[in-house]
Amino acid sequence: SLSDRLGGVFDRLRGRGALSEADVRGAMREVRIALLEADVALPVARDFVEGITEKAIGQQVLRSVTPGQQVVKIVNDALVEMLGPDTAGLNIDVSPPAVIMMVGLQGSGKTTTTAKLAKMLAGKERKKVLMASLDVNRPNAQEQLAVLGTQAEVSTLPIVVGQQPVEIARRALQAAKLQGFDVVMLDTAGRLHVDQALMDEMKAVADIARPNEILLVVDSLTGQDAVNVAQNFSNQVPLTGVVLTRMDGDARGGAALSMRAVTGKPIKFAGTGEKLDAIEAFHPKRVAGRILGMGDVVSLVERAAEAIQVDDAEKMAQRLAKGQFDMNDLRAQLGQMRRMGGLGALAGMIPGMKKAQAAMANGAVDERLLLRMDAMIGSMTVKERAKPELLNAKRKIRVAKGSGMTVQDVNKLLKMHQEMAGAMKRIKKMGGIKGMAALLG
Ligand code: GDP
Ligand code: MG
Repeated sequence: SLSDRLGGVFDRLRGRGALSEADVRGAMREVRIALLEADVALPVARDFVEGITEKAIGQQVLRSVTPGQQVVKIVNDALVEMLGPDTAGLNIDVSPPAVIMMVGLQGSGKTTTTAKLAKMLAGKERKKVLMASLDVNRPNAQEQLAVLGTQAEVSTLPIVVGQQPVEIARRALQAAKLQGFDVVMLDTAGRLHVDQALMDEMKAVADIARPNEILLVVDSLTGQDAVNVAQNFSNQVPLTGVVLTRMDGDARGGAALSMRAVTGKPIKFAGTGEKLDAIEAFHPKRVAGRILGMGDVVSLVERAAEAIQVDDAEKMAQRLAKGQFDMNDLRAQLGQMRRMGGLGALAGMIPGMKKAQAAMANGAVDERLLLRMDAMIGSMTVKERAKPELLNAKRKIRVAKGSGMTVQDVNKLLKMHQEMAGAMKRIKKMGGIKGMAALLG
């Protein structure tokens, strides 16, 4: 991860007063690689690095942090600033009907996102929403939206076979006015690649519908192509925002930075799954963490701060400062996880914990599983808890028997402990949980 790499770059520099140009340039090479690995488009990564290089040179290194941490903080802050603002809602407080138009490449998630937003507006905001599909190219595209409408309990414009997109848009607006809808959502057709016929059709629709929002829907896995997609769409229609889909997958979120840089428009929502309620406000801080490869440290720190007693945190911080993490610490963590509402959620946020998470039944929060792990640790001797390496085959059998579990279960527990100890070491490198909170706060 970036923090590891920067650690390497800066190990030589410990104790210096200010960041020199040479220091910063060395670090920025690593930052650039991290950005590219996170799928940030090359020109965007280049400009971003240029910008922060100037900011970073000459900055005083705070006494309590290392130069590497200082740079990570500078990069993190700049990313958050660029990705912001935090919660840009929809501009629909207009005389009804408000019109929201969705654009983007085929398969980016336009239709799904249309239904998600419609459901959200109809539910939480009690708006009367009408959805209309203008996709006359893909077979069954209009039916797809109708099905989603039924699922979301949102009205869809009746399908008239043979109508062209502009006519459908006109009919949708008319119906909305006559029937008193608050919001009309226009789901447009996409193509596999940007092409002029699509663009002309989209412009014609925008001309007659005069949307209050034109949202560009982008798959978060879009890599180097993100710049072209964003540029082409924003050249043709006045975009008001971006929705990033498939943020539930492995995407590091680099497309967000590319989109923001090229369109200058806020990223308003993130799609996090196929279900109709899998949509959330876009969180720049979280995505910055993902891009930098630090896991979702910000949320982790916030949640940890809520749930951990101050005393526990103090003790924990002292142990982590020494890089210690034995079975007693794991046991304490398990208790905290139960209080925090789940290992699945927590594990996903700690760098390197994804594997441990997968090892645990689908990442689901399982109170019983936590209790079983507690029982296994309970069956260990004091020495074994302090030094889990002592657990050879014979001892594992004893622990398994003592807790009513299998040796395989004991192995899983040990693997998880190892993975957490590794994660804690990385966090320690960053100055511990507290240092991290200060760094990212
Ligand atoms: P369109 O061609 O742009 O209208 O794309 P669709 O809305 O038809 O979506 C294409 C596929 O992506 C469908 O299978 C959706 O279920 C899926 N999809 C859309 N948004 C998300 C998301 O946020 N997460 C995941 N995992 N899948 C999504
Ligand atoms: Mg569609």
